[in-house]
Amino acid sequence: MQIQENISLRQYNTFGIEVYAKYFAGFSNMNELARLTEQAHKDAVIVLGGGSNVLFTQNINGWVWKNNIMGIEELGEDNSFVYVKAGAGENWHRFVQYAISRNWAGLENLSLIPGNVGAAPMQNIGAYGVELKEVFNSLEAFHLREKKVHTFTAGDCHFGYRESVFKKELKGEYVILNVSFRLRKDPVFHTTYGAIREELDKMNITSLSIGAVSQAVINIRSSKLPDPAVTGNAGSFFKNPSVSKKQYAGLKEKYPSIVGYENADGTVKLAAGWLIEHSGPSEGTGWKGYREGAAGVHDRQALVLVNYGGATGREIYELSKQVLESVYSKFGVTLEREVNVY
Ligand code: FAD
Ligand code: NAP
Repeated sequence: MQIQENISLRQYNTFGIEVYAKYFAGFSNMNELARLTEQAHKDAVIVLGGGSNVLFTQNINGWVWKNNIMGIEELGEDNSFVYVKAGAGENWHRFVQYAISRNWAGLENLSLIPGNVGAAPMQNIGAYGVELKEVFNSLEAFHLREKKVHTFTAGDCHFGYRESVFKKELKGEYVILNVSFRLRKDPVFHTTYGAIREELDKMNITSLSIGAVSQAVINIRSSKLPDPAVTGNAGSFFKNPSVSKKQYAGLKEKYPSIVGYENADGTVKLAAGWLIEHSGPSEGTGWKGYREGAAGVHDRQALVLVNYGGATGREIYELSKQVLESVYSKFGVTLEREVNVY
Protein backbone atom coordinates (compact mmCIF):
# COMPACT_ATOMS: atom_id res chain seq x y z
CA MET A 1 0.00 0.00 0.00
CA GLN A 2 1.50 3.27 -1.16
CA ILE A 3 0.76 6.63 0.44
CA GLN A 4 1.22 9.56 -1.91
CA GLU A 5 1.44 13.23 -0.98
CA ASN A 6 0.10 16.28 -2.81
CA ILE A 7 -1.40 14.25 -5.59
CA SER A 8 -3.74 15.60 -8.29
CA LEU A 9 -7.27 14.18 -8.08
CA ARG A 10 -8.05 14.98 -11.71
CA GLN A 11 -8.04 11.35 -12.86
CA TYR A 12 -10.06 10.29 -9.81
CA ASN A 13 -13.20 12.36 -10.51
CA THR A 14 -15.34 12.20 -13.66
CA PHE A 15 -15.77 16.00 -13.65
CA GLY A 16 -12.02 16.08 -14.32
CA ILE A 17 -11.46 18.80 -11.72
CA GLU A 18 -7.84 19.52 -10.88
CA VAL A 19 -7.47 19.77 -7.11
CA TYR A 20 -4.80 18.24 -4.89
CA ALA A 21 -5.08 15.89 -1.94
CA LYS A 22 -2.54 16.25 0.86
CA TYR A 23 -2.44 12.43 1.23
CA PHE A 24 -3.80 9.77 -1.12
CA ALA A 25 -3.86 5.98 -0.77
CA GLY A 26 -5.76 3.00 -2.12
CA PHE A 27 -6.75 0.05 0.07
CA SER A 28 -7.65 -3.47 -1.06
CA ASN A 29 -8.48 -5.23 2.21
CA MET A 30 -9.31 -4.73 5.89
CA ASN A 31 -5.65 -4.85 7.01
CA GLU A 32 -4.71 -1.97 4.72
CA LEU A 33 -7.78 -0.01 5.82
CA ALA A 34 -6.89 -0.55 9.49
CA ARG A 35 -3.31 0.67 8.82
CA LEU A 36 -4.64 3.77 7.08
CA THR A 37 -6.95 4.57 9.98
CA GLU A 38 -3.94 4.47 12.32
CA GLN A 39 -1.93 6.77 10.04
CA ALA A 40 -4.75 9.28 9.47
CA HIS A 41 -5.48 9.47 13.20
CA LYS A 42 -7.96 12.37 13.43
CA ASP A 43 -7.37 13.91 9.97
CA ALA A 44 -10.33 14.37 7.63
CA VAL A 45 -10.93 11.43 5.25
CA ILE A 46 -12.86 11.17 1.99
CA VAL A 47 -13.47 7.66 0.64
CA LEU A 48 -13.67 7.50 -3.13
CA GLY A 49 -15.03 4.92 -5.55
CA GLY A 50 -15.12 5.91 -9.21
CA GLY A 51 -15.44 9.64 -8.43
CA SER A 52 -18.58 9.91 -10.61
CA ASN A 53 -20.76 11.64 -8.04
CA VAL A 54 -18.40 14.21 -6.52
CA LEU A 55 -17.48 17.83 -7.19
CA PHE A 56 -14.21 19.02 -5.68
CA THR A 57 -14.26 22.78 -5.10
CA GLN A 58 -10.96 23.04 -3.19
CA ASN A 59 -7.78 21.17 -2.38
CA ILE A 60 -8.29 18.39 0.17
CA ASN A 61 -6.30 19.18 3.27
CA GLY A 62 -6.47 15.61 4.55
CA TRP A 63 -6.77 12.09 3.15
CA VAL A 64 -8.42 10.61 0.10
CA TRP A 65 -8.74 6.82 0.25
CA LYS A 66 -9.64 4.91 -2.88
CA ASN A 67 -11.63 1.79 -2.11
CA ASN A 68 -10.19 -1.09 -4.18
CA ILE A 69 -11.80 -4.04 -2.34
CA MET A 70 -12.61 -6.59 -5.05
CA GLY A 71 -14.37 -9.95 -5.27
CA ILE A 72 -17.77 -11.36 -6.16
CA GLU A 73 -19.07 -14.28 -4.10
CA GLU A 74 -22.28 -16.33 -4.42
CA LEU A 75 -23.58 -16.69 -0.86
CA GLY A 76 -26.49 -19.05 -1.45
CA GLU A 77 -29.95 -19.35 -2.90
CA ASP A 78 -33.56 -20.22 -2.14
CA ASN A 79 -36.47 -21.02 -4.45
CA SER A 80 -36.74 -17.48 -5.81
CA PHE A 81 -33.47 -15.66 -5.16
CA VAL A 82 -29.71 -15.88 -5.45
CA TYR A 83 -27.69 -14.04 -2.79
CA VAL A 84 -24.46 -12.45 -4.03
CA LYS A 85 -21.81 -10.35 -2.30
CA ALA A 86 -19.61 -7.88 -4.20
CA GLY A 87 -16.58 -5.95 -2.97
CA ALA A 88 -17.03 -2.17 -2.78
CA GLY A 89 -14.25 -1.60 -5.33
CA GLU A 90 -15.91 -3.66 -8.07
CA ASN A 91 -17.00 -1.58 -11.05
CA TRP A 92 -20.80 -1.28 -10.95
CA HIS A 93 -21.52 -1.96 -14.61
CA ARG A 94 -19.14 -4.95 -14.69
CA PHE A 95 -21.04 -6.38 -11.72
CA VAL A 96 -24.35 -5.81 -13.53
CA GLN A 97 -22.98 -7.65 -16.58
CA TYR A 98 -21.68 -10.49 -14.39
CA ALA A 99 -25.19 -10.95 -12.93
CA ILE A 100 -26.83 -10.83 -16.36
CA SER A 101 -24.40 -13.40 -17.74
CA ARG A 102 -25.56 -15.79 -14.98
CA ASN A 103 -29.21 -14.97 -15.59
CA TRP A 104 -29.64 -13.31 -12.20
CA ALA A 105 -32.28 -10.62 -12.62
CA GLY A 106 -32.94 -7.23 -11.05
CA LEU A 107 -29.95 -5.12 -12.05
CA GLU A 108 -30.63 -4.77 -15.80
CA ASN A 109 -32.34 -1.34 -15.59
CA LEU A 110 -29.32 -0.07 -13.64
CA SER A 111 -26.92 -0.87 -16.51
CA LEU A 112 -24.12 1.53 -17.42
CA ILE A 113 -24.31 3.67 -14.26
CA PRO A 114 -20.71 4.76 -13.69
CA GLY A 115 -18.87 4.17 -10.43
CA ASN A 116 -18.33 1.30 -8.04
CA VAL A 117 -20.47 -1.10 -6.01
CA GLY A 118 -19.55 0.54 -2.68
CA ALA A 119 -21.09 3.88 -3.63
CA ALA A 120 -24.35 2.38 -4.92
CA PRO A 121 -26.06 2.38 -1.49
CA MET A 122 -24.81 5.93 -0.76
CA GLN A 123 -27.59 7.46 -2.81
CA ASN A 124 -29.66 4.34 -3.44
CA ILE A 125 -28.80 4.61 -7.13
CA GLY A 126 -31.75 4.55 -9.45
CA ALA A 127 -32.62 4.59 -13.12
CA TYR A 128 -35.52 3.62 -15.37
CA GLY A 129 -37.92 2.91 -12.52
CA VAL A 130 -35.62 0.68 -10.45
CA GLU A 131 -33.68 1.59 -7.32
CA LEU A 132 -30.85 -0.25 -5.58
CA LYS A 133 -33.07 -0.89 -2.53
CA GLU A 134 -35.14 -3.36 -4.59
CA VAL A 135 -32.15 -5.71 -5.02
CA PHE A 136 -30.31 -4.85 -1.80
CA ASN A 137 -29.86 -7.48 0.90
CA SER A 138 -27.27 -6.03 3.34
CA LEU A 139 -23.88 -4.36 3.52
CA GLU A 140 -20.83 -4.36 5.74
CA ALA A 141 -19.22 -1.06 6.68
CA PHE A 142 -16.26 -0.07 8.82
CA HIS A 143 -16.85 2.65 11.42
CA LEU A 144 -13.90 5.02 11.24
CA ARG A 145 -13.91 6.12 14.89
CA GLU A 146 -14.96 2.86 16.56
CA LYS A 147 -12.77 0.86 14.16
CA LYS A 148 -15.44 -1.86 13.99
CA VAL A 149 -17.32 -3.52 11.14
CA HIS A 150 -21.12 -3.19 11.30
CA THR A 151 -23.76 -4.95 9.19
CA PHE A 152 -26.60 -2.82 7.79
CA THR A 153 -29.94 -4.22 6.63
CA ALA A 154 -32.10 -2.30 4.15
CA GLY A 155 -34.05 -0.86 7.10
CA ASP A 156 -30.83 0.43 8.71
CA CYS A 157 -29.85 2.22 5.49
CA HIS A 158 -32.99 4.48 5.43
CA PHE A 159 -33.05 4.41 1.64
CA GLY A 160 -34.96 7.26 0.03
CA TYR A 161 -35.03 8.97 -3.35
CA ARG A 162 -31.29 9.24 -4.18
CA GLU A 163 -30.70 9.17 -0.42
CA SER A 164 -29.50 6.94 2.40
CA VAL A 165 -28.34 7.21 5.99
CA PHE A 166 -24.74 7.36 4.66
CA LYS A 167 -25.42 10.59 2.76
CA LYS A 168 -27.24 12.16 5.73
CA GLU A 169 -27.10 11.20 9.42
CA LEU A 170 -23.97 9.03 9.12
CA LYS A 171 -22.17 11.12 6.50
CA GLY A 172 -18.41 10.53 6.55
CA GLU A 173 -18.60 8.01 9.41
CA TYR A 174 -18.41 4.69 7.57
CA VAL A 175 -16.40 3.00 4.85
CA ILE A 176 -18.63 0.60 2.93
CA LEU A 177 -16.67 -2.63 2.43
CA ASN A 178 -19.06 -4.85 0.48
CA VAL A 179 -22.69 -5.06 -0.57
CA SER A 180 -24.89 -8.18 -0.71
CA PHE A 181 -27.68 -8.42 -3.26
CA ARG A 182 -30.84 -10.49 -3.56
CA LEU A 183 -31.28 -11.24 -7.25
CA ARG A 184 -34.22 -12.97 -8.87
CA LYS A 185 -34.07 -16.33 -10.59
CA ASP A 186 -37.20 -15.39 -12.58
CA PRO A 187 -37.10 -11.85 -13.92
CA VAL A 188 -39.73 -9.19 -13.34
CA PHE A 189 -39.37 -6.78 -16.25
CA HIS A 190 -39.64 -2.99 -15.95
CA THR A 191 -39.99 -1.69 -19.49
CA THR A 192 -42.58 1.07 -19.23
CA TYR A 193 -40.18 3.77 -18.04
CA GLY A 194 -38.70 6.38 -20.34
CA ALA A 195 -37.86 5.13 -23.81
CA ILE A 196 -37.16 1.45 -22.97
CA ARG A 197 -40.20 -0.01 -24.78
CA GLU A 198 -39.51 2.11 -27.84
CA GLU A 199 -35.85 1.06 -27.87
CA LEU A 200 -36.78 -2.65 -27.53
CA ASP A 201 -39.08 -2.27 -30.55
CA LYS A 202 -36.28 -0.58 -32.47
CA MET A 203 -34.04 -3.54 -31.55
CA ASN A 204 -36.74 -5.93 -32.91
CA ILE A 205 -36.93 -7.78 -29.59
CA THR A 206 -39.84 -10.21 -29.65
CA SER A 207 -38.86 -12.38 -26.68
CA LEU A 208 -37.96 -10.25 -23.66
CA SER A 209 -34.83 -11.07 -21.64
CA ILE A 210 -32.77 -9.27 -19.00
CA GLY A 211 -29.95 -9.02 -21.55
CA ALA A 212 -32.25 -7.24 -24.00
CA VAL A 213 -33.50 -4.79 -21.35
CA SER A 214 -29.90 -4.09 -20.32
CA GLN A 215 -28.90 -3.48 -23.95
CA ALA A 216 -31.89 -1.14 -24.46
CA VAL A 217 -30.84 0.88 -21.40
CA ILE A 218 -27.23 0.96 -22.64
CA ASN A 219 -28.35 2.19 -26.07
CA ILE A 220 -30.54 4.97 -24.64
CA ARG A 221 -27.93 6.10 -22.12
CA SER A 222 -25.13 6.13 -24.71
CA SER A 223 -27.21 8.29 -27.05
CA LYS A 224 -28.30 10.83 -24.41
CA LEU A 225 -25.63 11.22 -21.78
CA PRO A 226 -22.21 12.82 -22.12
CA ASP A 227 -19.35 10.34 -21.77
CA PRO A 228 -17.18 11.55 -18.85
CA ALA A 229 -14.11 10.32 -20.74
CA VAL A 230 -14.90 13.00 -23.35
CA THR A 231 -16.71 15.74 -21.39
CA GLY A 232 -16.33 15.99 -17.63
CA ASN A 233 -19.59 15.52 -15.69
CA ALA A 234 -21.12 13.71 -12.73
CA GLY A 235 -24.49 12.81 -14.23
CA SER A 236 -27.55 14.61 -12.90
CA PHE A 237 -26.32 17.50 -10.82
CA PHE A 238 -29.69 18.02 -9.12
CA LYS A 239 -32.39 15.69 -7.83
CA ASN A 240 -35.92 15.82 -9.19
CA PRO A 241 -37.86 17.83 -6.58
CA SER A 242 -41.24 16.77 -5.23
CA VAL A 243 -44.05 19.25 -4.56
CA SER A 244 -47.59 19.00 -3.18
CA LYS A 245 -50.46 18.16 -5.54
CA LYS A 246 -51.79 21.69 -4.99
CA GLN A 247 -48.51 23.37 -5.93
CA TYR A 248 -48.28 21.11 -8.98
CA ALA A 249 -51.81 22.05 -10.09
CA GLY A 250 -50.87 25.74 -9.84
CA LEU A 251 -47.70 25.22 -11.86
CA LYS A 252 -49.53 23.08 -14.46
CA GLU A 253 -52.10 25.84 -14.97
CA LYS A 254 -49.37 28.40 -15.59
CA TYR A 255 -46.99 26.07 -17.50
CA PRO A 256 -49.09 23.37 -19.22
CA SER A 257 -46.05 21.51 -20.61
CA ILE A 258 -44.41 21.06 -17.18
CA VAL A 259 -43.43 17.40 -16.56
CA GLY A 260 -44.56 15.76 -13.30
CA TYR A 261 -45.07 12.19 -12.03
CA GLU A 262 -47.25 11.34 -9.04
CA ASN A 263 -45.36 9.65 -6.18
CA ALA A 264 -46.86 6.86 -4.07
CA ASP A 265 -47.37 9.35 -1.19
CA GLY A 266 -49.51 11.66 -3.34
CA THR A 267 -46.83 14.34 -3.88
CA VAL A 268 -45.66 15.04 -7.44
CA LYS A 269 -42.09 14.59 -8.66
CA LEU A 270 -41.14 17.32 -11.14
CA ALA A 271 -38.58 16.66 -13.88
CA ALA A 272 -35.77 19.01 -12.79
CA GLY A 273 -34.42 18.92 -16.35
CA TRP A 274 -37.64 20.57 -17.60
CA LEU A 275 -37.47 23.29 -14.90
CA ILE A 276 -33.84 24.07 -15.81
CA GLU A 277 -34.56 24.04 -19.54
CA HIS A 278 -37.43 26.48 -19.03
CA SER A 279 -35.52 28.96 -16.90
CA GLY A 280 -32.26 30.65 -17.80
CA PRO A 281 -29.52 33.18 -17.17
CA SER A 282 -31.68 35.97 -18.60
CA GLU A 283 -35.23 36.52 -19.90
CA GLY A 284 -35.80 34.49 -23.07
CA THR A 285 -32.57 32.44 -22.77
CA GLY A 286 -32.72 28.84 -21.43
CA TRP A 287 -29.95 27.06 -19.53
CA LYS A 288 -29.71 24.11 -21.92
CA GLY A 289 -26.43 24.41 -23.81
CA TYR A 290 -25.40 27.49 -21.77
CA ARG A 291 -21.67 27.90 -21.30
CA GLU A 292 -19.63 30.23 -19.12
CA GLY A 293 -15.91 29.71 -19.69
CA ALA A 294 -15.33 25.98 -19.41
CA ALA A 295 -18.37 25.31 -17.21
CA GLY A 296 -21.69 24.59 -18.85
CA VAL A 297 -25.13 22.99 -18.92
CA HIS A 298 -25.24 20.00 -21.25
CA ASP A 299 -27.01 20.67 -24.56
CA ARG A 300 -28.99 17.38 -24.59
CA GLN A 301 -29.75 17.02 -20.88
CA ALA A 302 -30.12 20.21 -18.82
CA LEU A 303 -29.82 18.28 -15.54
CA VAL A 304 -26.17 17.56 -16.29
CA LEU A 305 -23.52 20.24 -15.66
CA VAL A 306 -20.33 19.79 -17.64
CA ASN A 307 -16.66 20.69 -17.59
CA TYR A 308 -15.52 21.38 -21.15
CA GLY A 309 -11.92 21.24 -19.92
CA GLY A 310 -10.13 23.28 -17.32
CA ALA A 311 -13.16 24.49 -15.32
CA THR A 312 -12.60 24.74 -11.59
CA GLY A 313 -14.95 23.08 -9.13
CA ARG A 314 -15.79 26.53 -7.84
CA GLU A 315 -16.92 27.60 -11.34
CA ILE A 316 -19.15 24.55 -11.70
CA TYR A 317 -20.54 25.16 -8.22
CA GLU A 318 -21.23 28.85 -8.98
CA LEU A 319 -23.07 27.82 -12.16
CA SER A 320 -25.15 25.35 -10.13
CA LYS A 321 -26.00 28.22 -7.76
CA GLN A 322 -27.20 30.39 -10.63
CA VAL A 323 -29.32 27.53 -12.01
CA LEU A 324 -30.79 26.86 -8.59
CA GLU A 325 -31.65 30.54 -8.03
CA SER A 326 -33.23 31.02 -11.45
CA VAL A 327 -35.41 27.90 -11.07
CA TYR A 328 -36.56 29.14 -7.67
CA SER A 329 -37.26 32.64 -8.91
CA LYS A 330 -39.34 31.39 -11.88
CA PHE A 331 -41.15 28.37 -10.41
CA GLY A 332 -40.84 28.80 -6.63
CA VAL A 333 -39.27 25.30 -6.45
CA THR A 334 -35.99 24.66 -4.65
CA LEU A 335 -33.62 22.23 -6.33
CA GLU A 336 -31.32 20.11 -4.21
CA ARG A 337 -27.86 19.08 -5.40
CA GLU A 338 -27.45 15.34 -5.88
CA VAL A 339 -23.68 15.47 -6.37
CA ASN A 340 -21.49 15.34 -3.23
CA VAL A 341 -19.66 18.66 -2.98
CA TYR A 342 -16.28 18.87 -1.20
P1 FAD B 1 -17.93 8.39 -5.84
O1 FAD B 1 -18.23 9.54 -6.71
O2 FAD B 1 -16.53 7.93 -5.74
O3 FAD B 1 -18.48 8.70 -4.38
C1 FAD B 1 -19.76 9.23 -4.18
C2 FAD B 1 -19.98 9.46 -2.69
O4 FAD B 1 -19.96 8.23 -1.99
C3 FAD B 1 -18.84 10.29 -2.05
O5 FAD B 1 -19.44 11.07 -1.04
C4 FAD B 1 -17.92 9.25 -1.46
O6 FAD B 1 -17.21 9.74 -0.35
C5 FAD B 1 -18.91 8.16 -1.04
N1 FAD B 1 -18.34 6.81 -1.15
C6 FAD B 1 -17.92 6.18 -2.28
N2 FAD B 1 -17.56 4.93 -2.01
C7 FAD B 1 -17.71 4.76 -0.68
C8 FAD B 1 -17.48 3.67 0.21
N3 FAD B 1 -17.02 2.50 -0.21
N4 FAD B 1 -17.76 3.87 1.53
C9 FAD B 1 -18.20 5.04 1.98
N5 FAD B 1 -18.45 6.10 1.18
C10 FAD B 1 -18.21 5.96 -0.12
N6 FAD B 1 -26.54 7.86 -10.40
C11 FAD B 1 -27.76 7.25 -10.30
O7 FAD B 1 -28.26 7.04 -9.19
N7 FAD B 1 -28.44 6.87 -11.42
C12 FAD B 1 -27.97 7.06 -12.66
O8 FAD B 1 -28.61 6.68 -13.64
C13 FAD B 1 -26.69 7.72 -12.80
N8 FAD B 1 -26.20 7.99 -14.03
C14 FAD B 1 -25.01 8.65 -14.15
C15 FAD B 1 -24.52 8.93 -15.43
C16 FAD B 1 -23.30 9.58 -15.59
C17 FAD B 1 -22.79 9.88 -16.99
C18 FAD B 1 -22.54 9.94 -14.44
C19 FAD B 1 -21.19 10.60 -14.60
C20 FAD B 1 -23.02 9.68 -13.17
C21 FAD B 1 -24.27 9.04 -13.02
N9 FAD B 1 -24.81 8.75 -11.74
C22 FAD B 1 -26.01 8.11 -11.62
C23 FAD B 1 -24.09 9.17 -10.52
C24 FAD B 1 -23.02 8.13 -10.05
O9 FAD B 1 -22.54 7.36 -11.12
C25 FAD B 1 -23.57 7.18 -9.00
O10 FAD B 1 -24.05 7.90 -7.90
C26 FAD B 1 -22.50 6.18 -8.51
O11 FAD B 1 -23.07 5.27 -7.60
C27 FAD B 1 -21.29 6.85 -7.86
O12 FAD B 1 -20.31 5.85 -7.70
P2 FAD B 1 -18.79 6.21 -7.47
O13 FAD B 1 -18.07 4.96 -7.13
O14 FAD B 1 -18.26 6.95 -8.64
O15 FAD B 1 -18.88 7.17 -6.22
P1 NAP C 1 -36.01 10.76 -19.00
O1 NAP C 1 -36.35 9.37 -19.41
O2 NAP C 1 -35.84 11.82 -20.03
O3 NAP C 1 -37.08 11.28 -17.93
C1 NAP C 1 -36.96 12.58 -17.34
C2 NAP C 1 -37.28 12.49 -15.87
O4 NAP C 1 -38.63 12.06 -15.72
C3 NAP C 1 -36.40 11.49 -15.18
O5 NAP C 1 -35.59 12.22 -14.32
C4 NAP C 1 -37.34 10.52 -14.47
O6 NAP C 1 -37.21 10.55 -13.05
C5 NAP C 1 -38.73 11.00 -14.78
N1 NAP C 1 -39.53 9.91 -15.37
C6 NAP C 1 -39.53 9.48 -16.66
N2 NAP C 1 -40.44 8.50 -16.82
C7 NAP C 1 -41.01 8.31 -15.61
C8 NAP C 1 -42.02 7.44 -15.12
N3 NAP C 1 -42.65 6.57 -15.92
N4 NAP C 1 -42.35 7.52 -13.81
C9 NAP C 1 -41.74 8.37 -12.98
N5 NAP C 1 -40.76 9.23 -13.38
C10 NAP C 1 -40.43 9.21 -14.68
O7 NAP C 1 -34.69 10.74 -18.08
P2 NAP C 1 -33.16 10.63 -18.48
O8 NAP C 1 -32.50 11.87 -18.08
O9 NAP C 1 -33.01 10.11 -19.86
O10 NAP C 1 -32.68 9.51 -17.45
C11 NAP C 1 -33.16 8.19 -17.57
C12 NAP C 1 -33.01 7.48 -16.23
O11 NAP C 1 -31.63 7.42 -15.87
C13 NAP C 1 -33.73 8.19 -15.09
O12 NAP C 1 -34.29 7.24 -14.23
C14 NAP C 1 -32.62 8.97 -14.40
O13 NAP C 1 -32.85 9.13 -13.02
C15 NAP C 1 -31.41 8.08 -14.64
N6 NAP C 1 -30.19 8.91 -14.71
C16 NAP C 1 -29.69 9.36 -13.54
C17 NAP C 1 -28.53 10.14 -13.52
C18 NAP C 1 -27.92 10.58 -12.22
O14 NAP C 1 -26.81 11.05 -12.23
N7 NAP C 1 -28.63 10.42 -11.12
C19 NAP C 1 -27.91 10.47 -14.72
C20 NAP C 1 -28.49 10.01 -15.90
C21 NAP C 1 -29.63 9.23 -15.89
P3 NAP C 1 -36.13 9.73 -12.20
O15 NAP C 1 -34.84 10.47 -12.40
O16 NAP C 1 -36.66 9.82 -10.83
O17 NAP C 1 -36.07 8.33 -12.71
